[in-house]
Amino acid sequence: MLTTKTAKTIKIENVEPGAGAIEYAKHLTVGLTREEAAPIIAALMRGELNNPTDNRVKQCDYCSYWWRDDSLRNNKRTCSDRCRTKIKSLHTSERRAKEALLNPEPKEKKHTLMDDYIWWLEYPFWINEYSMIKIGWKYEKPSGIALMDYVDSKNALYGKGNRKKKTRELEF
Ligand SMILES: [Zn+2]
Repeated sequence: MLTTKTAKTIKIENVEPGAGAIEYAKHLTVGLTREEAAPIIAALMRGELNNPTDNRVKQCDYCSYWWRDDSLRNNKRTCSDRCRTKIKSLHTSERRAKEALLNPEPKEKKHTLMDDYIWWLEYPFWINEYSMIKIGWKYEKPSGIALMDYVDSKNALYGKGNRKKKTRELEF
């Protein structure tokens, strides 16, 4: 037996019905002509066609059309993924607007180590030794004794490049 389920106030105007709502309307008007379906759709939109004992039939939070929740837990609030995304971004922008209203001052940017490097002048320099060391070691790694030894002997053998020096042969 179909009776009226009260429609909640529609918050958002002129929203296209989501996939779930279309599916539900289709299911109610299957096999009907356009003329036959029109009054049913009108009644559906007024919320008059829903079985009050069927707690799976609800109004989508975003598009506010009626739809039937077939999910396992019956805890969805929107008729389709699209409506879900839309209402989420709506809530996010509402929350941001509220936050902006409550704290109008822009958040101060967090001070980073690189802020202590004055790079835009002719001679770049650090204004904080700690920051300089924390950043600088990545670019100027100190070499250990073993590595320096290796480089020295390599240079003696090959010179600056990678080619082995010709050893001069002395004629006796
Ligand atoms: Zn929807």
